[in-house]
Amino acid sequence: MLNKETLAAWRQDYPLLDDLIALREISWFNPAVVATQLALPDVGLTAADVVDAGARLARFAPYLARVFPETAASHGLIESPIAAVPQFQQALEQRYALPHSGALWLKLDSHLPISGSIKARGGIYEVLQHAEQLALDAGLLQVGDDYARLDSAALRDFFGQYQIAVGSTGNLGMAIGIMAARLGFQATVHMSADARLWKKDRLRAQGVTVREYAADYSVAVEQGRQQAASDPRCHFIDDENSRHLFLGYAVAATRLQQQLQAANITVDAEHPLLVYLPCGVGGGPGGVAFGLKLAFGDAVHCVFAEPTHSPCMLLGVYTGLHDAVAVQDIGIDNITAADGLAVGRPSGFVGRAMQRLIDGYYTVSDEELYRLLALLEQSEGWRLEPSALAGAPGIARVLSEQQAYRERAGLTAERLAQATHLIWATGGSMVPPAEMQAYLDKGRALLQAEM
Ligand SMILES: *Cc1c(COP(=O)(O)O)cnc(C)c1O
Repeated sequence: MLNKETLAAWRQDYPLLDDLIALREISWFNPAVVATQLALPDVGLTAADVVDAGARLARFAPYLARVFPETAASHGLIESPIAAVPQFQQALEQRYALPHSGALWLKLDSHLPISGSIKARGGIYEVLQHAEQLALDAGLLQVGDDYARLDSAALRDFFGQYQIAVGSTGNLGMAIGIMAARLGFQATVHMSADARLWKKDRLRAQGVTVREYAADYSVAVEQGRQQAASDPRCHFIDDENSRHLFLGYAVAATRLQQQLQAANITVDAEHPLLVYLPCGVGGGPGGVAFGLKLAFGDAVHCVFAEPTHSPCMLLGVYTGLHDAVAVQDIGIDNITAADGLAVGRPSGFVGRAMQRLIDGYYTVSDEELYRLLALLEQSEGWRLEPSALAGAPGIARVLSEQQAYRERAGLTAERLAQATHLIWATGGSMVPPAEMQAYLDKGRALLQAEM
């Protein structure tokens, strides 16, 4: 926690901190954003790196199709559909008194196979990347092989000499634990206090070691990092800094490009694409946004969404301090029902790499997440976990509040009329029915109380 004098001086320099500290919902659209081509070099990764990650996932596809039958239909690609949500769009327009603008879609990473969240992109990718490297180095695999042969007792024994560790609020641990255990690794997941019991149970049932902490995500990550530092056979997946994770997420963009084409949706300057991404530590939304910027350039506009109790990326980018500041330093508790977003300190890598590419950031209250959860279920039937609703109010922030931003970004009324708004729905299909029912009951009660 900053001392009183420092905090008072800070509030002078950064006027939005008052509302942030008071846990009010706020939006901040960054005036320092520049043209995509100017800012892409900030990232230190290239289109070729994303192509390479996509090729690696394609090499593993025959293996994945074999060991995870739910991916057989997509031939081993871990991908989710997009869905138009016109009724939900209407509900949002009513709720936030919005003009009608373009078409609203969901990207259903909530329904990704294997682990049911966006982490099935980056988390699984990094495990596969590490496994491939070990097997290639040991001469047990060649890049041209059919990787389905990794599904063998001999390879599982080989991977069994190695450990994979990660710190998580739940979903990253699920993706990494399930994938690592399936390959044969010894996997340890260091879970923060936010992690839901069912996620820990499910991992333990698969032979994953789950360590529980009473503290938040940063502490769980630190414990994982320490475990790995003392053991050369242990690979620590560093959600706060990993380029591999980031690239695994970035592959989503070219796949989305094909899905939009198949749906006859044009994306160009006259038909902008606005994407609303829930943000925790930043790797998931950052990686996806990087891929989107490579794929669509200035025609795509990315906005990050965080809980009012965990606005770490907004705080880091707004103050320019990135990972040198945590929400707890300004008296915010990092306690939220959006467990996938319960992160107090942002990734320094993502904040710095992406700050000139992300148009804006906003916060949303837990109560509103529950209301939106119930509203989406009622209007379209999709069931998501609270974190995954954070992107839903994004359309309202852009359309009703941010005139200066819209002008800066060239989002004229004419262009917005033919825009595509995409809410990245990041998790929820694996929530146990009783828990989902409790989420829905809570959201419905909160909606009812407004009447
Ligand atoms: C992890 C997660 C996010 C955000 O990803 P980060 O990489 O932590 O920013 C969003 N939604 C859900 C459901 C998640 O599990």
